[in-house]
Amino acid sequence: MTIRGSCLCGDLAWEAEGPLQLEHHCHCSRCRKAHGTPFATFGGVPAQGFRWLRGADGIRRYESSPDNHRPFCGRCGSSVPGEPSDGRVGMPLGGLDGDPPVRVLAHIFAASKAPWYEISDELPCFDAYPPGFDLPVLAEPERPAPATGRIGGSCLCGGVAFEVELPFRIMRSCHCQRCRKARSAAHATNLLTDPHRFGWTRGAELVDSYKVPEAERFTQSFCRTCGSPMPRVFEARGYVVVPAGSLDGDPGTRVQEHIFVGSKAPWFEIRDGVAQYDESPPDAG
Ligand SMILES: [Zn+2]
Ligand SMILES: [Zn+2]
Ligand SMILES: [Zn+2]
Repeated sequence: MTIRGSCLCGDLAWEAEGPLQLEHHCHCSRCRKAHGTPFATFGGVPAQGFRWLRGADGIRRYESSPDNHRPFCGRCGSSVPGEPSDGRVGMPLGGLDGDPPVRVLAHIFAASKAPWYEISDELPCFDAYPPGFDLPVLAEPERPAPATGRIGGSCLCGGVAFEVELPFRIMRSCHCQRCRKARSAAHATNLLTDPHRFGWTRGAELVDSYKVPEAERFTQSFCRTCGSPMPRVFEARGYVVVPAGSLDGDPGTRVQEHIFVGSKAPWFEIRDGVAQYDESPPDAG
């Protein structure tokens, strides 16, 4: 069985001989920042059956921990498969094309999950790595807390940071295919706020953006150094989209709706009881 994937802009594409193995949702803080989401989902394929179909020279890599490089598309910011390790290539499943069989086995690093996210399915949960994976668990970096009534956010490398005055307007998860590719994850989870409540505190010049040419406004903003999704300010339209995974702390709100559920990843089940819309919600501007 051949498995294919590609990034949001399509510059990078890959192929592997399946089946996928060891599929899991990872809630560690590094995955949350690198994907801008509550968790990232990965699977592995044997290294010998993996190959880049195009664009491999457009990959950028950020060393998020010693010897662990997180590769991303330098043009659109999508996370892409990494270097082989233990004879396997790990791939973020949000970039899959078509509908290969995926069976997610567990949640890992559940002890470091986002404070604003509850795991609501019945998959096994492990605090860190599952038993049998004898790997070191990294310490969480210290992140300074902003003033009361505000929340900070930052990218994985720490080069870009921002602050937002609370409360946010809404938090929602979008399951459309563009969001899945942009975040290389099961779905995007974003918060909306007003431009006057938002400000960069560092590294705004490091934020690159990619707009999908055929879309009216779909734009992925990301840190040029580490690829982490970053907020996008739509000044003229009067809102800012903040990737929830980039937040350092609890925004005091929870996901209020799932949108574009009609195109959700077949391997992710929504079990949280929150409102679902097949496409845009009725009040979307
Ligand atoms: Zn790309
Ligand atoms: Zn992780
Ligand atoms: Zn960064």
